[in-house]
Amino acid sequence: MNEKYQQLIEKLRVISDLGAIGAVLGWDQATYMPQGGAAARGRQMAVLGQISHERATDPEIGQLLDDLQPYLSELPDESDEARLIKVAQRNYDRSTKVPTELVGKLLANGAAAYSAWTTARPENDFEKMLPLLETTLELSREVANCFPHDHIADPLIDQSDYGMSAESTRKLFAELRAELVPLVQEVTGQESADDSFLKRSFPIDQQKELGEKIIRQYGYDFTRGRQDLTHHPFMTKFSLGDVRITTRFDENEFGDGLFSTLHEAGHAMYEQGINMAYEGTPLANGTSAGVHESQSRLWENLVGRSRPFWEHYYPYVQEQFAEQLSDVSLDSFYRGINKVSRSLIRVDADELTYNLHVMLRFDLELEMLEGKLAVRDLPDAWHARYESDLGLRAPSDSNGVLQDVHWYSGIIGGVFQGYTLGNIMSAAFFEQATKAHPAINSEIGQGKFDTLHGWLRENIYQYGAKYTAPEIVQRVTGSELSIEPYMRYLRGKFGELYTL
Ligand code: ZN
Repeated sequence: MNEKYQQLIEKLRVISDLGAIGAVLGWDQATYMPQGGAAARGRQMAVLGQISHERATDPEIGQLLDDLQPYLSELPDESDEARLIKVAQRNYDRSTKVPTELVGKLLANGAAAYSAWTTARPENDFEKMLPLLETTLELSREVANCFPHDHIADPLIDQSDYGMSAESTRKLFAELRAELVPLVQEVTGQESADDSFLKRSFPIDQQKELGEKIIRQYGYDFTRGRQDLTHHPFMTKFSLGDVRITTRFDENEFGDGLFSTLHEAGHAMYEQGINMAYEGTPLANGTSAGVHESQSRLWENLVGRSRPFWEHYYPYVQEQFAEQLSDVSLDSFYRGINKVSRSLIRVDADELTYNLHVMLRFDLELEMLEGKLAVRDLPDAWHARYESDLGLRAPSDSNGVLQDVHWYSGIIGGVFQGYTLGNIMSAAFFEQATKAHPAINSEIGQGKFDTLHGWLRENIYQYGAKYTAPEIVQRVTGSELSIEPYMRYLRGKFGELYTL
């Protein structure tokens, strides 16, 4: 077995390295590449993508996996070897079960849809997207049908949130929505918080310095990462020793840059915390979109928008931005950064309303895939859900169904649930961490994060993709994923901010 296993590891390392090379090209494209490099870079990335696909579908990998199957039953189920073989098998199936011709159609339609969307959104022209989106839906169904499933969306959900299904996600979301809709109504029925001071002029250099100071204290390791500026913030990884983040700042939006820095640092700390022995294998990745988002949201919201956090940092921030914030009390500041309002745009939504935006997209995706909702009826269905869940109607499709790039990038299904699963998990994990170490909250109030970070590394980060998301949740909380810790967190926090 050992020889075959080593051969497999070597082949997987090449796939991982090709992925990392692509990530370097993508990072450079988004940060420092001059405009003139665009056409050649696109071509180079396409060439690399083709080579990666060939390597990922190499029949020799399939053969090695077949040869290793008999040994699986002899290995302890929770051994790294057994888990690595399983994850490699899953990735191999994903790469090989979709016919090359269909992959080509998907990429071509995805590129055409994305390109059309970049003008259709500003022009408020959903009609223009209609034929492309209809093709996207058709192709998404074809992809799903390449895999055995109970629900047509299951194979698509599996790609980013392995272990979750349409049914389990729908059930969880229905429970959450039933709690959230009335809670949002209750909160937004009260006097709104003032956050106008966040729109004063905050020099970008100072904002950047503050963000870096905080994430350094969080435990983001700058000797194994760096931060650069981009239009759309993201995290990327070239190896476990080089996990980078990007951010953006707006001089007149204090929260925008800071919280996106904390968010991306959360993603990066997860990857930096993975067991170094997994380097170059498929275990050296965050295990799912949901668990990944649980870490970005935990550091952004449960820590970074908490009262103890600002009790510690606000005096310093107020001193750094004396001109802008000297007349703003800690109380007003804390209320301002946690302002709840019903709004039309998902990415600008506050902690409380955010999930309503996500869950309605998830439901609409399922309805389209099930054949219950035609693409041409999507804008009307969108408006109806915004009216029932948020009491708002978008004045145009630009601020409605055209706002997110996801459906216009080539796939419908499996692309939204991770955001809300992540929020639900973030509170479940944080609750367990503070149960194990009750001092965590007072430590946050002193700008100390070692205990929390250490607990997350020990219970979640180090395992990478070794355990699936449902397994991580089970190991950490002792039960299946539940909305209860998240609702306790929201009710506690917003109950104090508003009178509930
Ligand atoms: Zn994120």
